[in-house]
Amino acid sequence: MFPTNLIGLPFEGLKAAIVEAGVAEKAAPMRARQLWNWIYVHGARDFVSMTNLAKDFRAHMAERFTLARPQVVTEQISNDGTRKWLLRGGPGVEFETVFIPEPGRGTLCVSSQVGCTLNCRFCHTGTQRLVRNLTPGEIVGQVMVARDALGDWPSTGENRRLTNVVMMGMGEPLYNFENVKAALAIVADGDGLALSKRRITLSTAGVVPMIRRAGEEIGSALAISLHAARDEVRDILVPLNRKYPVVELLQACRAYPGLSNARRITFEYVMLKGVNDTLADARELVRVIRGIPAKINLIPFNPWPGAPYECSDWEQIEKFAEIVNRAGYASPVRTPRGRDIMAACGQLKSESVKLRASERLAQLRSQELARIPG
Ligand code: SAH
Repeated sequence: MFPTNLIGLPFEGLKAAIVEAGVAEKAAPMRARQLWNWIYVHGARDFVSMTNLAKDFRAHMAERFTLARPQVVTEQISNDGTRKWLLRGGPGVEFETVFIPEPGRGTLCVSSQVGCTLNCRFCHTGTQRLVRNLTPGEIVGQVMVARDALGDWPSTGENRRLTNVVMMGMGEPLYNFENVKAALAIVADGDGLALSKRRITLSTAGVVPMIRRAGEEIGSALAISLHAARDEVRDILVPLNRKYPVVELLQACRAYPGLSNARRITFEYVMLKGVNDTLADARELVRVIRGIPAKINLIPFNPWPGAPYECSDWEQIEKFAEIVNRAGYASPVRTPRGRDIMAACGQLKSESVKLRASERLAQLRSQELARIPG
């Protein structure tokens, strides 16, 4: 029997798993709580280190379970301190996670899928076809790998370096709703990875039918990749707009549960030279979002090989920001981070490809052949 990975199971699932493994029903809630605390607060990587648990219990757990994180394939460190990890969830399933240190805080940019189905024209990930959704364990595992590398345990520590999580890595989180929800419940659990929901932001390209549920069931902060206020432009930049046009998207934003001046929606707006960056575009932007408690995050376009766009000129970004600002919206311009290691917004991509069953088989066979001494 293969050992089961406990990472990513909900608390009740972990409890059921240890009962299944022979732990008495009566003892299970407490045992599960102890394990949970070791795994998520202290970042235990094996059962041996859980020193307040009986030795034979630890040995028994070690036979049946693992605490496996995604495997770290490579780590790169930018000259601005940004760190990027390429992780592997299984053969041919690779994805990236980025840690962005800032004074007094540190943000982890987490992936939800390997590849993406959305094909946004300016996004590098969009050129990689969807391989598969990440599991809850692989999503939570990104936070745990980062904490391991940063020496950032316990999760409840006062001077922890990783203070915020943004679901802004590879993939569309609302197309992997159940797994993202399960993972973020562990990230937000005060007895788990212990980041409050206000410090977790989910970013979507605008999967309108899922936005309300995201608010009700996940309850994190919301970011919308808007990038254009007019359908003609947004249809091209974010093809999902043809399904859910701007008015419908903004209607869903207005109805986002818990929205208030203290809990604003972030609208992300990538600055593309000559495409969406005129002053008329800026005025149109503030017109369409009127009445929504919002801030606008202007993102200088980050280039990638073969990208069909250029970043707007700096003066243009400033003029654009001024119009947005005068309309009463905070409009910070996002400082590009980690561009030198292709870790900035929209630059993430892995080599993983979706193989047909026949191709997978052929690949396995050739690996086997390679192992046969010649
Ligand atoms: N699919 C989700 C999560 C990805 S978030 C979403 O679209 O919101 C990644 C953010 O970076 C999005 O706002 C995306 O539009 C933006 N982005 C993509 N490519 C970019 C690029 N080349 N330069 C700057 N920002 C980019």
